[in-house]
This record gives sequence, structure tokens and C-alpha cells, in this order.
Amino acid sequence: MFHYKANREKFINALGKAKKLKVPVSVALLLVCAAVSAVLIRQALTEREPVISERAEVGIVLENDISDNAHPEAEYIELPSDGVIVKGFSSDAPVWNGAYSLYETHAGVDFALGDGFVRACAKGRIESIETDERYGLTVTILHENGCRSGYASLSEVSIAPGKTVKAGEIIGKMGVSAVCESDMESHLHFFYEINGKKALPPFASNGQT
Ligand SMILES: [Zn+2]
Repeated sequence: MFHYKANREKFINALGKAKKLKVPVSVALLLVCAAVSAVLIRQALTEREPVISERAEVGIVLENDISDNAHPEAEYIELPSDGVIVKGFSSDAPVWNGAYSLYETHAGVDFALGDGFVRACAKGRIESIETDERYGLTVTILHENGCRSGYASLSEVSIAPGKTVKAGEIIGKMGVSAVCESDMESHLHFFYEINGKKALPPFASNGQT
């Protein structure tokens, strides 16, 4: 038999309980959101911390083989200097920086040759000439394939912004203007960007042949 009155009371009671539960559910949801946010923020902060505790060899990176598809979009480039490579590219393992007395990554290749000439590594347009607070007098060239080369720690620049240059064309001279590499002799800090990210320069030759 259906007792309308009794069921009606049960229904009202259940509704009342559910209403009472609404507040705790909202609070619980809020707490879960806060906990998830805290974890995400903590993760983001942890990722930003530089890893400098791990000692790494100051290996001179001469690997110029792009057959491993490290840079599928890249084209081979010429050496920007006749000098010797005194510090290699290291984007993962931090290397010793004597100027700051710490280990940090080195997203470029350093060439030393006294006050030697610095040359464009490939055809392109002089995009900028400026004094970087860390890397000193710096020239950047935008290449036709969208890659960008940079020439830092220069003592002088012999080219104007906007000018088109050929591969091998002299653009300036190396020097000691890089503050972050002030412990080093006169040199060129050369960097290469593929898709806007500093990459191991795909040199056609490692200067040893
Ligand atoms: Zn350097």
C-alpha cells in the first residue's frame, strides 16, 4: 500500500539532508581545487629552479653531425671565425662560469683568436646590433630559413643594421665585451637559434680539417 503521508515525510527529510549536504560538498570542491592549485604552483616553481648542483665537464663540443636529426630544419653553416673553439655548447649540463663563479649552461660556442675577424656563418640580413648586458656588443643575423645567428663579445662591428650579408663576410672583430664571460680571453661567443631556440650550431666543418 502506498502511504502518501509517510512517503511525503521521508521525501522532505531526504531533501532536507541533501540541502544540508550542499554546503560541505562545495567546501570539499573548494579544498580539492586549492590542493590541485598548490601542487601545480609548486611544480612550476620547482621547474624554474636552475640546476647548478651537478658538476659537469667543460667539454668542448665539436659534434657537428646533424645526421642524427637533432636539427631537421637546419642547414649547415660555416664557422664564424678562424679561431679555436675554447668553450663548447652545453644546453643540458651546466659548465663552470669563472666570471660568476657558478655552473650554468652555455648556449653557444666560443672561438678565440686574439682580435680576430668575425664572419657571417651564412647568407642573411643584419637584424640587430646592440650591447647586451650579459654578452656585450652583439650582432644578430636573420637567415632565409628563419634561423638566427648571433655574434657576441665583440670589440667592434663593421656592418650596418638591415644590410644583407653573404656567408663568410666580415661583420666585426671579437673582444672581451661579454660581462658574463669576462674571465675569458678575447673571444667570439657565437649562438644559433632554430625555431627561436638556442641550438647546437650545425657547422659544416669543425675547423679541424
Ligand atoms: Zn660563450
